Amino acid sequence: AEPRLVAVRATPISGRLTLVVLRDITERERVEEMRRDFVANTSHELKTPVGAVSLLSEAIEFAADDPAQVRHFASRLQAEVTRLAALVNRILSLSRLQASDELRDVRDVSIDEVVTAAVEGYAIQADAAQVTVVRGGTKGLWVRGEPQILTEAVGNLVANAIAYSPEGSKVGVGVKLDDTVVEIAVTDRGIGIPESDQHRVFERFYRADQARSRRTGGTGLGLSIVKHAVQRHGGEVRLWSRPDRGSTFTIRLPMSEAPDLEGVRPKPRR
Ligand code: ADP
Repeated sequence: AEPRLVAVRATPISGRLTLVVLRDITERERVEEMRRDFVANTSHELKTPVGAVSLLSEAIEFAADDPAQVRHFASRLQAEVTRLAALVNRILSLSRLQASDELRDVRDVSIDEVVTAAVEGYAIQADAAQVTVVRGGTKGLWVRGEPQILTEAVGNLVANAIAYSPEGSKVGVGVKLDDTVVEIAVTDRGIGIPESDQHRVFERFYRADQARSRRTGGTGLGLSIVKHAVQRHGGEVRLWSRPDRGSTFTIRLPMSEAPDLEGVRPKPRR
């Protein structure tokens, strides 16, 4: 890593001399700084749902004599706990992706299977939002990597496309080969992202203003996970978006040859 020199202290010694203390912020320190930021942001983000859970459980106790009230608070409590669990899962995913350079359990991954699992994972959300997810494109493409992480990345894009789309609209998930790069494109006709926000949406906890008011359930971590997951696989994420027209997020991953499944299967014994 390039050493980065920063002045940490400047002490005037005499009229013409100043002692400047320089420090080399090495890669390691930068990583440490990022980690501290992450912990600080995360603690902050956890406080709201944890506070809500605590208030709602108190409310249930106070409302004990009124079954209708108890049911009302209990269902809100369940919703908060679900949100909290989703947030914790995302925090764990992201911290794992940021913590180590290594992928565990690398194997041949079928893009068909990744896309199927990602889409099925959000079928309930799609139904609830009355959004139809349409799959298309090339079948039979493979990459090398960790199937769960890739599924989570594609799933996050599908989840966002559903969440930021109007009722009755369609979300497309298309796969194609661009030379030796596998492209998975998730397209919606939703609210879109203003140009000024487009490079920031991949930052941790960043949420565009419109999204904040529209969808309180978001965590601001989904795209950050997508970016890290894809980079870990030697790929990149591209974004095209126009406010009120929609967005296309494209994951690009190096293609690998289809595995020789015959060779992998154990031969029957005689
Ligand atoms: P969130 O949990 O808020 O969706 P993400 O990291 O997944 O967090 O996305 C960050 C922000 O990017 C969102 O809050 C929203 O402003 C914007 N965004 C992401 N996907 C879309 C999309 N498909 N359409 C419009 N805006 C989007």
